[in-house]
Amino acid sequence: MTNDSYLQDNIKTIKSRIERACHKVGRNPADITLVAVTKTIDTDIVNRSIAFGISHIGENKPQEIVRKYPLIEKDVDWHMIGHLQSNKVKMVIDKVKLIHSVDRLSVVNEIEKRAASLDKVIDILIQVNIGEESQKSGVAAAEVKALLEKVEQCQHIRVLGLMCLAPYFYDAEQVRPYFKKMKEIFDEIKAMPLQRGKIEILSMGMTNDFEVAIEEGATMIRVGTGLYGARDY
Ligand SMILES: *Cc1c(COP(=O)(O)O)cnc(C)c1O
Repeated sequence: MTNDSYLQDNIKTIKSRIERACHKVGRNPADITLVAVTKTIDTDIVNRSIAFGISHIGENKPQEIVRKYPLIEKDVDWHMIGHLQSNKVKMVIDKVKLIHSVDRLSVVNEIEKRAASLDKVIDILIQVNIGEESQKSGVAAAEVKALLEKVEQCQHIRVLGLMCLAPYFYDAEQVRPYFKKMKEIFDEIKAMPLQRGKIEILSMGMTNDFEVAIEEGATMIRVGTGLYGARDY
């Protein structure tokens, strides 16, 4: 059972873990955005967490965003964090604040087309497959700039940074080299002269490894289990 004090305690614990990680490296906790990953979690529980201070929620399936959207408190920003197929862009484009998982030109083109028809500019991150894992989405590190240059040509898309789903290790310390590599790419693209993009978000770190991600420069972390408990699929 997910009761209120369980949720409140978890939120408090995650916030103090964020603060501790920030203090360790001299960063300001206010510079870290916490995205609560609500996949498989009942909308009732999600709404209670919003009442306790959650203001960003992340879902990994377009269908779930569509289903939950009318049931969730309005005062929250939605993040599309999962693999996105071109034919599903239209389901989420009018609902989400940020798409974290852009990794192919076909998706870029579809977002541009849909955004143009809505007369909106859509904020995105480029997903990097930093561990070069075959089962994970994302562009290879070496392809980030090429995709970014394509996105720059789109009038209705603004790139705000990068996202990764790092390889999983029980010992979070082992993820550090991957986060370091992400930060290097982030700094490289930040130094590029961009017309539309504004590189400021580095989305990395989950329940198991977000402290290491923060130490290495994450500005946005995505936490599910640490807030809502183990998922029941
Ligand atoms: C599920 C998920 C998370 C959160 O994972 P936890 O280990 O539960 O914190 C973060 N990012 C993405 C893309 C996810 O799919």
